[in-house]
Amino acid sequence: MTGANREWRTLEVPIRPGTGTPKRCPWGHDLAVGGVRQGWSQDYWAPEWLCEACHALAGKGGVWSMIDTAVERQVMETGVDEYGLRQVVLPPPVSAGIGVIQLRLGHTVFGEVRLSLCPVDRRAILCHVEVEEKHRRRGAGRVLVKAAMERGAKFEWSMLPIGRDPVAVAFCARVGAVGPASPCPCTHQVNAKVIPAESRWTKWW
Ligand SMILES: [Zn+2]
Ligand SMILES: [Zn+2]
Repeated sequence: MTGANREWRTLEVPIRPGTGTPKRCPWGHDLAVGGVRQGWSQDYWAPEWLCEACHALAGKGGVWSMIDTAVERQVMETGVDEYGLRQVVLPPPVSAGIGVIQLRLGHTVFGEVRLSLCPVDRRAILCHVEVEEKHRRRGAGRVLVKAAMERGAKFEWSMLPIGRDPVAVAFCARVGAVGPASPCPCTHQVNAKVIPAESRWTKWW
């Protein structure tokens, strides 16, 4: 593949978080009925699947890639290389502060999720998910949210209010909320200023 040499990358093949053999394609077909073929994405370095039902209907397409979001598969900046789709962790500046996970392919950053984790109180807050406009609707946001949740497995999750941005609302409505959209920070998270002052009052609006 010449993909690794390209300066600017796209999510040509859509992605979904997960491992193992999928039960349904992203477009809703039951793969036990419609049939599925497994391959390998040289671009993402991840398993690639083809839904035979989708493919037969359109004569093309029906292909997606499954990204393993397990914590062990996420890398720090020092572990980043030129190959494959990477979940890159930028740790928070202070304990329980806001850390970042970026989704990258080569030098291209498709988007990022911001989160706060307090291992003492086992509280997790999803602060923000952002996917660059031209890379939206390819599954990047879903992969990022899943990657964030893996880092806070068995934590009590809440999220900042999603506001009225129609893109953010549509995304949350599609992917599902990780927890109540009124954050319940612990004292460490309050001290780390995870919650912007204005959202503390949201529940009274
Ligand atoms: Zn399908
Ligand atoms: Zn705490």
